[in-house]
Amino acid sequence: MRAVDLIGRKRDRGELTAQELAFLVEGYLDGGVSDGQMAALLMAGVLNGFTEAEALALTRILLDSGESLDLSRLRGPTLDKHSTGGVGDGTTLLVAPLVAAAGGQLVKLSGRGLGHTGGTLDKLESIPGFRTALSPDELLAIVAEVGCAVAAQSERLVPADRALYALRDVTGTVASPALIASSVMSKKLAAGAGTIVLDVKAGDGAFLASIEEVEALAQLCVRIATAAGRRCVALVTAMDEPLGRGIGNALEVAEAVTLLRSAPDAGGRSRLTEVALDLAAHGLALAQGGSVGEVRATLEDHWASGRALERLRAMVAAQGGDPAVCDDPAGILPAAPVRRSAPAPAAGVVTAVPARGVGEIAAALGAGRARKSDDVDPAVGLELAVEVGDLVERDQLLAVVHACTEADAETAARRLADLVHIDGAGGGVAPPAPVLRVVRA
Ligand code: URA
Repeated sequence: MRAVDLIGRKRDRGELTAQELAFLVEGYLDGGVSDGQMAALLMAGVLNGFTEAEALALTRILLDSGESLDLSRLRGPTLDKHSTGGVGDGTTLLVAPLVAAAGGQLVKLSGRGLGHTGGTLDKLESIPGFRTALSPDELLAIVAEVGCAVAAQSERLVPADRALYALRDVTGTVASPALIASSVMSKKLAAGAGTIVLDVKAGDGAFLASIEEVEALAQLCVRIATAAGRRCVALVTAMDEPLGRGIGNALEVAEAVTLLRSAPDAGGRSRLTEVALDLAAHGLALAQGGSVGEVRATLEDHWASGRALERLRAMVAAQGGDPAVCDDPAGILPAAPVRRSAPAPAAGVVTAVPARGVGEIAAALGAGRARKSDDVDPAVGLELAVEVGDLVERDQLLAVVHACTEADAETAARRLADLVHIDGAGGGVAPPAPVLRVVRA
């Protein structure tokens, strides 16, 4: 077999067998296939598409490149939740304690933020003392005791995905449904949970914008999980505007704690609350049985009674963080030295708060990273005061900017005023539904 012939076949819209894909991926890991060759293969696949058989084979090859977690010592249904990445997307901070409160065992291996999207590890590490580097034994012991834990993915899990993803990231080859599905699902299968609930984002702030493409990706992920003997449900959710009001690591933790400290419908349902309840309800209904509606009602009780907040407190404490963050987030979480209001430049109806742009503004403040090796500033970001459908007056607050310097705050406020669309003609706009589709096996 020669890499150049296989790349040529993919360029000419041919299909590669599992053995041929394994030859290429294993060759890439051991140096026999160069960066240039692998990038050419990936680009040919992005442009011409991969078949479902290729996506299934690639998932298996990635999975077999490393170790898997053995969750057999956990009692109760094991769940995993994954989001394809968004802005203001603190759902894991809500779903994990909700699942634990309902008797599920949520084992979550998370990533860090990259580009305009945030990462759960960065958010949790804004809590003083919180540790995400857990050994498999520690992780499982915490899940057994608390019902949930969130840890960094070990280097030994799916190393081939790590290598391929780093190359895709710098060669414009992320946006392929088959590559995203095999990358995501190989990690989910390696993490070992019996039930997987996926939050596949669609819209401006997502990897794939069109709902049709995203639904096809969700279906492919569910079929990959089913073929591997796991239960899986995927929710396609809107990422045209940020999901929550906080964008930035500590700000997102503070928002999640504040939400959990009140009833789920206090002050009207937030889109973040809706997506978190739906993800937890669909996952638990699939794992434990029962209707999604009944499970959701039980979860709302756990939320309103404070049981979910209590699980979050227990998880934070077990992972070395200061549990007082659940009583007084503002007093415990790091605060930025500068806070500045960003006013609306005109009166009218808010018709768009583009998620990607908002994420980029938060990242430029220091909340995100341009390269994997960058550090994040846990305290900075934006607290949005408006969402699509709101009526605003000129100079009304659009957001509070949390920044390191006055100059950073000024730049962010100006960028936000340019970014948010305000329609002065006054025509109404219906806020989009947060959950767009549910994809089952
Ligand atoms: N998240 C992943 O883990 N992999 C991808 O390819 C895209 C998003």
